[in-house]
Amino acid sequence: MLEQEAAEHMVSPSESLFFSPGTGRRIHYMISKGGSEALLQALTAAAQPEPPDHSTLLPLLRLLARVGQRDQKFGLKVQKADATDTILSLARRNLGHHLYLTHCLWVLRVCASNGEATLGINGAMELLFKVITPYSKRHVRTVRAAIEALAALLKSKSNSRRAVNRGYLGGLLRLYQDWHHNDVSNNYIYIRRGLLLCLKHITNIQLGRETFLGSRGMEILFTSVQDCLSCKNLDPIITTVTQILRKCYPKEPLPLASVRSSYSFPLPRNAKAEPPCEGSEGDYESDGEEEDEKDLDNEDVESKEEDYDLETDVNKLRSRPVLDRPEEELRQYESMCPELSHNFQVLSQCGEKDFKIPLQSWTKKEKCRWDQTDVKRDIAEAAQDAPSCEEEDPASSHVLALRPLPKDAAWCKKMFCSECEDSINPNAGGRLESSYTLTNLLEKHQEDIPFHSPRFYVARAKCVKSIADYKDLAFPDFWGHQPPPYSKPMLERKHGVQSAEETSSLKQPAIGILALIYCSCSSPGAPGCLTFFSKFESGNLRKAIQVREFEYDLIMNADVNSNQHHQWFYFEVRDMKLAVPYRFNIINCEKFNSQFNYGMQLVMYSVKEALQGRPRWLRAGHDICYYKNHYRCSAAAGGGMRGKFYYTLTFSIKFPHKDDVCYLAYHYPYTYSTMMSHLDILEQNRNPKKVYWRQQTLCQTLGGNLCPLLTITAMPESKKGDDLEQFYNRPYVFLMARVHPGESNASWVMKGTLEFLVSSDPIADLLRKCFIFKIVPMLNPDGVINGNHRCSLSGDDLNRQWLTPTSQLHPTIYHAKGLLYYLRSIGRAPLVFCDYHGHSQKKNVFVYGCSIKETLWQAGCMVDTNVITEDVGYRTLPKILDKVAPAFVMNSCSFLVEKSRESTARVVVWKEMGVLRSYTMESTYCGCSHGLYKCTFSLKPSASLHQGLQLGTQELEEMGSKFCLGLLILHLKSLPCSKKVMAQAALLLDLEEEITDRTQRSVIVAFRGFSCETSWCRYVLGLNLQKWTFVMAEVCILGTGMY
Ligand SMILES: [Zn+2]
Repeated sequence: MLEQEAAEHMVSPSESLFFSPGTGRRIHYMISKGGSEALLQALTAAAQPEPPDHSTLLPLLRLLARVGQRDQKFGLKVQKADATDTILSLARRNLGHHLYLTHCLWVLRVCASNGEATLGINGAMELLFKVITPYSKRHVRTVRAAIEALAALLKSKSNSRRAVNRGYLGGLLRLYQDWHHNDVSNNYIYIRRGLLLCLKHITNIQLGRETFLGSRGMEILFTSVQDCLSCKNLDPIITTVTQILRKCYPKEPLPLASVRSSYSFPLPRNAKAEPPCEGSEGDYESDGEEEDEKDLDNEDVESKEEDYDLETDVNKLRSRPVLDRPEEELRQYESMCPELSHNFQVLSQCGEKDFKIPLQSWTKKEKCRWDQTDVKRDIAEAAQDAPSCEEEDPASSHVLALRPLPKDAAWCKKMFCSECEDSINPNAGGRLESSYTLTNLLEKHQEDIPFHSPRFYVARAKCVKSIADYKDLAFPDFWGHQPPPYSKPMLERKHGVQSAEETSSLKQPAIGILALIYCSCSSPGAPGCLTFFSKFESGNLRKAIQVREFEYDLIMNADVNSNQHHQWFYFEVRDMKLAVPYRFNIINCEKFNSQFNYGMQLVMYSVKEALQGRPRWLRAGHDICYYKNHYRCSAAAGGGMRGKFYYTLTFSIKFPHKDDVCYLAYHYPYTYSTMMSHLDILEQNRNPKKVYWRQQTLCQTLGGNLCPLLTITAMPESKKGDDLEQFYNRPYVFLMARVHPGESNASWVMKGTLEFLVSSDPIADLLRKCFIFKIVPMLNPDGVINGNHRCSLSGDDLNRQWLTPTSQLHPTIYHAKGLLYYLRSIGRAPLVFCDYHGHSQKKNVFVYGCSIKETLWQAGCMVDTNVITEDVGYRTLPKILDKVAPAFVMNSCSFLVEKSRESTARVVVWKEMGVLRSYTMESTYCGCSHGLYKCTFSLKPSASLHQGLQLGTQELEEMGSKFCLGLLILHLKSLPCSKKVMAQAALLLDLEEEITDRTQRSVIVAFRGFSCETSWCRYVLGLNLQKWTFVMAEVCILGTGMY
């Protein structure tokens, strides 16, 4: 018989064949030709004689172990060949002969790993258990083989059940302890790990977990792992212990009466049925058998799943859906394009005067210097377009008080006279807007923060409509933020922090304080505790629980009308001691991974620091770590099929002053009032001779707040026909930001864009002459105001509503889309559309765009280039940004159209409005892994040079202004433009001095504070200069090529 011959041929002499390179292929070939069966037959034959023929058996067993490992049906084949008993009895007969025994155990292991189910019934476990107990360092190879075989067997749930019933779990725990204590020099890590794997498999079943807890498993493993934390070699052990501890730790619901947001908002006219309310908190699942252990160190888990999500239906990709509303409705948007019907005949004569009034010294008196008619009309229009607070119904605006200041600050005594101390005391009813505190503070404020005015802020904040009816102003938003003179590198991750944090979190709370000290609806805490507060614009903290003397568990509030989307936090903390590291655990995070594990820090603002002249949000926190915790959300409450997991963000903070008032946030806050007061300042500071600026209201939000719409372009050069025609015919650029309220980085980028657009920079001047900008700086004001992370008041993700928005539920989206429809209907669809976002999982700044070809190609579809012709113009802008914007990285961009994104602004505007350059621009919350901001240097020679910079507001704003520069270059590259524009551009972008200045400025800005070595400086400068030169060269080549 062929098989038998083959087997005989294979054994002994040609055994070496299978251990040489190329083995894998040969073995697979052999398996396909019935090799496993033949070997098993040979084994049965060789095992029959008494005593067995060991000279054949040993190589045969070795071969079987080898081949079986690669044969997925090996277990079945063993069963079929009735070889199970043969192997087991061979092992039993050789209990005293360790070489033979070990060989048998290897084969048993591959049987168990590859589907031999009957081993458990046949007494294999008893045999293996006998081999490994009691603890002994003799015959370690045999012990190892037995433990590995046992671990393989225990993967089967019925075997695990059997093992528990026979009392093996306790035995395994004791054995693990013995190995742990005796393996002082860590020579037997694989044995310890093997035992842990046995425990890990057994605890996959409920019975196993209960028995584990009953056998003091938590304490035993927890104590043992404490000795391992300092040693890097022991990572596999620490990881496995952590997995077991986490799995066995009793699951609990969050310490909340209901996970649903503490705020609810009645939707208009029953527009949508309420989502089913969560069940009682007792019904959380004790959770399915196994939990997926996602690899935390794989940053790209997301991208693996993306390919399945690609839209591959060419017809869907190319179709243009019909209008989602009656066509006559579009007429209402005509009034949102006042620039198209503006009559410039009243334009003043002295338009050439240069505007040189410094920003902060702007007064009404100076304003009068301008042409009276023009100013009057401006004011009249502004009043009509952008209702400001003063004109509103006084009843609608409410009294706001600044949060109480630190009590003992020295400046405080100097600043306030004794009789008005009441106004500083939180309990003395000092909630008077005219309080001395506010007045004195306003007098003290240096007004030296560009584009920020506390007065304007207060005025705007008074008009905000919030669900909780905020009565307090957070100090940082009122006082303002000035970026620090340096950027901070990403935190370097210390070895073992994750494991240490994770395992220590699994201990029972050491001290039974567990006092509830803050609840968004209750009173302040006990003496000696920190005091928390977050009932102010964009604030989000639901509950704080003191778990140890200096440690607090914090719970974020869910988005309004929802029970999820916890990520954004912003709260005040006071009554701290000096030099104490406080530990905070935010215990209801939802994302399975976070940049907090890759160098990102949160931000902190100290009121004392601010009053001493350093008003700034700073990156803060150390020993930061993010991991899955033991809290679960019941399936009903989580709105999903299975109970949802929660994650903990944990960090330590040392506050800079005693008894300070500090604010902590997920990222640099940027409230709705900040945005509105910023627009007020921009409006007042622009040069109306040069900048055409209209602020209108796109619509009112569900919460009754106004969503502003801006139009920015250059005033026409003159009243002459040509110039007016040029004005009316400028292509449109449509920009939006902050549809997701937790993405405050998007607002800082938008701030940079707006400031550049109205600035007197000659590039801005030229850019304004090239485009009409339509800008919605904050698409989700209600979400931002109420401290949401993702949604609007309806509980919807507004960036998933673009296909069919409704005017009742998603007014801002409905009208933004309406305006875009209108532009398309008059043949003026924008040249560029960009929606600013923030990305929590990736580094750098990048865009998502839309390309049919790239989508099909990525999905592995055939692309018929004759059928699909596509303009690759969508790539130009990101390519330019890669060169001009230090934080922007082309390689991070993607141009794929995903099914799950079909209702986002980017895809809808691309498909329905036919906008080729339709983008989502994502800014990281963290920092840069490429480009100029990647290289940092430290004075400490030991410190790494590889950590990139964390982005600050300065870098985000710079991104916004560089985006504008990119638009200008795009215009020069892609559109026919007049000789005049080209000449101006050449003059601006080609002036070497100017460029050097600019470059140096930007580099100095980026690297201020680093007392870096000259060579480094030169390197960085050179790098940036090269970039510039490159752009210049391109522009110049283009310049000569046209007209
Ligand atoms: Zn977003």
